[in-house]
Amino acid sequence: MTRLAVCPGSFDPITNGHLDIIERGAKIFDRVTVAVFNNQSKSPLFTVEERLALIEASTRHLPNVSVDASNGLLIDYAKKKNAQVVLRGLRAVSDFEYEMQITSANRKLDPDVETLFMMTNNQYSFLSSSIIKEIAKYGSNVSDLVPEPVVTALQNKYIHQ
Ligand code: ADP
Repeated sequence: MTRLAVCPGSFDPITNGHLDIIERGAKIFDRVTVAVFNNQSKSPLFTVEERLALIEASTRHLPNVSVDASNGLLIDYAKKKNAQVVLRGLRAVSDFEYEMQITSANRKLDPDVETLFMMTNNQYSFLSSSIIKEIAKYGSNVSDLVPEPVVTALQNKYIHQ
């Protein structure tokens, strides 16, 4: 049986923290699908298409990773794709309550889909897409914090606007 994990999120944009979880997941599972969920309440900087393209460009070195998007419920998506696992990253205690709530709801909806958490690599524990956007907006250097294609994309959004 092929072991498939779905790595869901907004990825607005993908950061080195996300990439670290995806790379580690790709070593454990046969396949990992990074799924962009369009969270309307977050008023995103990048369109879903832009986010998909950035994830694709940033994961090209990982042959068992694919990229997809969905507007529906995560659990319905996981079932449709025959994924056994939802893979999430945990940065700090502050992530815990939210993740606990979502995981419990998802388990209620389908107990067969397991949610697994990976602790962030310490060097990325402060990193979020929001912080990246805040730094980039003021023209500061984010090249150590996001994959190369994202550096250019942020410059295009904020400098060439
Ligand atoms: P969401 O909108 O669902 O929170 P995000 O794009 O913010 O989506 O995050 C997607 C996943 O990546 C989540 O599981 C989140 O906890 C994880 N993640 C985000 N930033 C980091 C990081 N710096 N280190 C590890 N995991 C992270």
